Amino acid sequence: MEEKKRRAFMKQAAGLGVLGIAAAGGIWAAKEFKPEKSRLRPPGAVPEDQYLSMCIKCGQCLQVCPYDSIKLEDIDGKAAVGTAYIAPLERGCYLCEAFPCVLACPTGALDHESNVIEKIHMGMAIVVNESACIALENKKVTKEMIGRIYDHTKVISEEERRERKVVIYDNDPEKVKLQKELLQKLSAKEGQTCDLCASLCPYKPDPSLAIGMVDKNGGLFPEIRESCVGCGACVELCPTKVLQILPYATYAEVYGKKKGNAHA
Ligand code: SF4
Ligand code: SF4
Ligand code: SF4
Repeated sequence: MEEKKRRAFMKQAAGLGVLGIAAAGGIWAAKEFKPEKSRLRPPGAVPEDQYLSMCIKCGQCLQVCPYDSIKLEDIDGKAAVGTAYIAPLERGCYLCEAFPCVLACPTGALDHESNVIEKIHMGMAIVVNESACIALENKKVTKEMIGRIYDHTKVISEEERRERKVVIYDNDPEKVKLQKELLQKLSAKEGQTCDLCASLCPYKPDPSLAIGMVDKNGGLFPEIRESCVGCGACVELCPTKVLQILPYATYAEVYGKKKGNAHA
């Protein structure tokens, strides 16, 4: 890791209050993760110090995001009012084609070179509440679990929200279609053993390079893998808040060199 990025990461890590970087392996013990102390930035964000000075709070990225993933700091936020961020517990980034947020950013706070998935790195998924994972006990996804995502999706009708079922019309704008497609995939999981984090991971071309379900203690559990880009979709979709994103962190920093996550 180049020195500037390494310093930015260490500063970020200190702010997060995450304990336990093993000197040799760089393995995180994510026991004290405090998401309120940090912000996940939109795709392509330059290192945090630069980002804070380069983001001119114009909201262009928010306006073009088809998933409504981007938010702007409020008056009681953690940076200057209007600074763009993503709150993955409410809505992750879905890594859409051509990264319109990056293209729209007028200052390079979202680096214009980061216009393909191979160049995107927002952070790294970590496990913050392992015992809450319902897949460990082979529990099924319920309508109520799915309902949370319906409830915070803005582009659907009241009836669709109530019924927990959406219909895609030919004349739906692209943004509406994309969000409805996500809800349809979510609804198709109702009644099945939970694997929402892994099966709906938007990493392309192959989500299993970023996350996969593995056997654990008689059940299943998500394993974070090297290609995870920290988009936060899995954080949003998990019904029991098992996962979080460590902004700017890399796989090697969090999990060391071995394949698969290291929390086991
Ligand atoms: S488009 Fe760029 S400068 Fe404008 S709010 Fe988003 S990140 Fe900041
Ligand atoms: S595992 Fe997939 S959904 Fe989760 S942060 Fe990584 S790339 Fe995004
Ligand atoms: S979404 Fe993933 S981490 Fe969350 S309960 Fe389901 S399997 Fe477990």
